[in-house]
Amino acid sequence: MSLIDQALPYVRAISPYLPGKPITELAREMGIPVEKIVKLASNENPLGMSPKAKAAMEKAAGTLERYPDDFDLKKALSNHTGLDMNRIVLGNGSNDVLDLIARVFLAAGRSAVFSQHAFAVYPLATLSAGAELIVVPAKDFGHDLDAMQAAIRPDTRIVWVANPNNPTGNFLPYPQLKAFLQAVPADVVVVLDEAYNEYLPPADRVDTVAWLAEFPNLVITRTFSKIYGLAGLRIGYALASAEIADLMNRVRQPFNCNNLALAAAVAALADHEFVAKSYALNRAGMEQIIAGLKRHGLAHIPAHGNFVTFKVNDAAGVNQRLLKQGVIVRPIGGYGLPDWLRVTIGTEAENLRFLEALEKAL
Ligand SMILES: *Cc1c(COP(=O)(O)O)cnc(C)c1O
Repeated sequence: MSLIDQALPYVRAISPYLPGKPITELAREMGIPVEKIVKLASNENPLGMSPKAKAAMEKAAGTLERYPDDFDLKKALSNHTGLDMNRIVLGNGSNDVLDLIARVFLAAGRSAVFSQHAFAVYPLATLSAGAELIVVPAKDFGHDLDAMQAAIRPDTRIVWVANPNNPTGNFLPYPQLKAFLQAVPADVVVVLDEAYNEYLPPADRVDTVAWLAEFPNLVITRTFSKIYGLAGLRIGYALASAEIADLMNRVRQPFNCNNLALAAAVAALADHEFVAKSYALNRAGMEQIIAGLKRHGLAHIPAHGNFVTFKVNDAAGVNQRLLKQGVIVRPIGGYGLPDWLRVTIGTEAENLRFLEALEKAL
């Protein structure tokens, strides 16, 4: 047998993750100057990061010969959520904590349930643990919670739920979600991924953290990559029972979060003004983009995050013609949506560049 044949078959069967095209890559490919490129492909914050986070990061740059101390961020998150520090697990991005949950509960002979068109990291985490993936057909592009509940088997250990979902933007009303938690067996973990939570209008939001008291099988994940603008630093967290958090910490690599990310996250969490500004920009930009899509007669999925998913004829061709104009959006054929494109909401000027380029690309 060849060396590669010796690799674990379930690892060889995994489809690689396709990231949004980096600005520098498009610049190399098309010879477009970096500053002329608009990237609206990875749900990043168009305002960058909080100036306070940047200052904290610069200060922390003087500590890099030392291993990190994650106490301050855990303490800040404890104050932010009202949970004890031993119920918070930090990750190198929230993708890392998703993987930790999978490592604790999944292996060969076990399964996880997830929705068609849901976030790509759930299959990655499930399959790389050697477990089986049960894919439940979506309803109106979102999670069909009744069907997901029905799909749970005796060997199912995790159900993955994103709210709002990426790449579709769907939002599950909280009463439905709570009824789902009540219906799921108590020995199955429900992972509620709230990467876009901070973008929800306050009227739409309920305190899901309070649900942890009622549902010890609930794990909530959140990130500093989206509204806090720290995607490149890689920092996110999970909120769980003390027992689950303890197990996740056992499989976590020590020092998985670096000094710069820890310091920036503490400052970012405290900068309410920057979060409010990012939220307001996103609401305005969402209206701007949706109005533009409507002018072009394009359908979109109701949006609840910092991106809008819209339908075009010939998504691959439109994407290519956008790229030629220096505008990067996200094709989502890999998510089973080959006729759709996902655009991240940018600044007013970026949104305008996108809408003008789209008009030409159509
Ligand atoms: C962007 C995103 C994340 C965040 O990933 P990080 O690893 O924290 O950058 C998690 N879940 C969903 C659904 C996302 O879209």
